[in-house]
Amino acid sequence: MARYTGPDCRLCRREGCKLFLKGTRCYTKKCAMERHSYAPGEAGKRRPRESQYRTQLREKQKTKRIYGVLEKQFRSYYEKANRQSGVTGENLLRLLECRLDNVVYRLGFARTRAEARQQVRHGHINVNGKKVTIPSYMVRKGDLISVAEGAKELNNIQRSIIDNAEIAVPVPAWLEADIEHLQGSVISVPQRDQIDLDIKEQLIVELYSK
Ligand code: SF4
Repeated sequence: MARYTGPDCRLCRREGCKLFLKGTRCYTKKCAMERHSYAPGEAGKRRPRESQYRTQLREKQKTKRIYGVLEKQFRSYYEKANRQSGVTGENLLRLLECRLDNVVYRLGFARTRAEARQQVRHGHINVNGKKVTIPSYMVRKGDLISVAEGAKELNNIQRSIIDNAEIAVPVPAWLEADIEHLQGSVISVPQRDQIDLDIKEQLIVELYSK
């Protein structure tokens, strides 16, 4: 399946909530959800027919879109989460949170997960001093994530630091950011209450367990 290349705001309107895909714009009145929150297209203003399946499907789609993960990969995260001990839904969110692109975004080195993914792909991010170019790389407790020496002055990284400071999005408690040195560390694995996303992960589990 190809990656979605249409307007990001359309995805928020489809899911009926803010997915924060456009950085600082999402926190302003320019946000499309502030202006017209109904779903896109001709049928957008009509009330959708409610069904259990639809609710579960939308929750899965919303989560995939927040993290920018395609169906096949998302499914494999679910299967991995299901094999782990503990609550499958929480395991699933934990796996998604530990992706390197998400961690770069959470540390404030990028304005969006998409931007963080590009930084990783372009070799601007090191883990424990070594370049890692795989956005889905899973970070572990104790890992040190840093912006590579040659990338520290890059315009989009500097801009991200300034913009993120303005909107003051907090770094989650399971991470520790050192903005001055453009690095951060994983101090623990994320717990559900440290993931500030309005996701009903149980609905995703119900969808996949059918
Ligand atoms: Fe979604 Fe608003 Fe951000 Fe657009 S600006 S991506 S509608 S949160």
